[in-house]
Amino acid sequence: MRGDFSVMSLLAQTWEKTFSAKEGAMLLKTFGVSSFSELLLTPKLEKILSEAIERESIERGDALYLTKISPKEMPFLLLAASAIRNRSKGKTITYSKNVFVPLTQLCRDRCGYCTFKIEPGEGSLFMNPDEVLDIAKKGVKAGCTELLFVTGDKPELAYQIYRDALGKIGYETTAEYLIDMGKTGLENGIFPHTNLGLSTPEELLEFRKSNPSMGLMLENISERLLKKGNAHHGCADKVPRLRMETMEHAGELRIPWTSGILVGIGETFEERIDSLYALLDLSRSYGHLQEIIIQNFNPKEGIKMQEFPPADFIEMLKTVAISRLVFGGEMNIQIPPNLNNRNFTFYLTAGVNDLGGVSPLTIDYVNPEAPWPQVERMEREVKALGYELRERLPVYPEYIDENWIDPYVLEKVRQRVDETGYVPVN
Ligand code: SF4
Repeated sequence: MRGDFSVMSLLAQTWEKTFSAKEGAMLLKTFGVSSFSELLLTPKLEKILSEAIERESIERGDALYLTKISPKEMPFLLLAASAIRNRSKGKTITYSKNVFVPLTQLCRDRCGYCTFKIEPGEGSLFMNPDEVLDIAKKGVKAGCTELLFVTGDKPELAYQIYRDALGKIGYETTAEYLIDMGKTGLENGIFPHTNLGLSTPEELLEFRKSNPSMGLMLENISERLLKKGNAHHGCADKVPRLRMETMEHAGELRIPWTSGILVGIGETFEERIDSLYALLDLSRSYGHLQEIIIQNFNPKEGIKMQEFPPADFIEMLKTVAISRLVFGGEMNIQIPPNLNNRNFTFYLTAGVNDLGGVSPLTIDYVNPEAPWPQVERMEREVKALGYELRERLPVYPEYIDENWIDPYVLEKVRQRVDETGYVPVN
């Protein structure tokens, strides 16, 4: 720690104001120090963090500098990220209750980390409309508000058998089918949130008529990952430019949008930072990015990347905290709790304010090995660190207005929230 008494006491005050005693102790222990005075604050780090707090964003060069700080400097990065989050969001941590609908697990891509894709003959070609209706109804009964549609990318371009079967129920593309199933969900009292993959403006316009929000992960902005031997080799839908294009169309159509990055799929830290700035540019241009997910890779048996190490915990913390500094306090930043089941609350110290969709009914088909934590456990652990857990819809309160949501959908959204924009507390 620097020997400047005024800076030190100012930081000490901020520390106690920002972190609960339990969080503070947890941080010191994790970074191998026994007291606050053993932490290291270099002038450069102090300058970057002070500017981040003042300006609500940081320059790329400063973000890159932060990727290299030592464990003894880390708590200050987390402190700044938490202070920025607290200033805009207070101590409210959100989540949504969803049912997961893997409409089709066929896919024309071959991501190295995939556990979702199946081939014809390994399972159903797609869920039929009755199955979707059934799960939507069960979701409503279990108190869920989000019908989370996830599919493989454009299987109709790869599999004749899929095209034929889809044709028999009256659709030419997965998008057309999803658009109708979204409407089915909405009419049955649950809000669709569709992750289709690359989409045309015409498709997005149709989705907007039933989806209060949609999503597409950027994953990473680096074209390098498309090259042979990398995670996105052989994936026509993972071309970053095309993913950005879909999200730009969504911005033009004013669709509240969820995006994010994957951590640990073979990208460099610099590529990760560049991905965050690509999303920041998008957000500044259209204002429609309602949420950024920072999703960690975990290896599983049977995938191409099964020998890859899982995303490193300290790197994840750094990435989350840097994301908070890049995007400022207003952005909703999420980590998936089921992929961080043992330590999801730790990410609250890095500026996260959302714990994503949790399902009381269905598994996470994209990460079938990772069970959701129980809402009661989330509530208990979040509270123990001094935060309050609130349930939200798939759309965040700041987007609940006619600028962002189709009037018919908006009416239904408003019926499900209180004056805070969250689901009323019972
Ligand atoms: S991760 Fe998604 S896009 Fe990639 S192969 Fe699996 S299903 Fe297809």
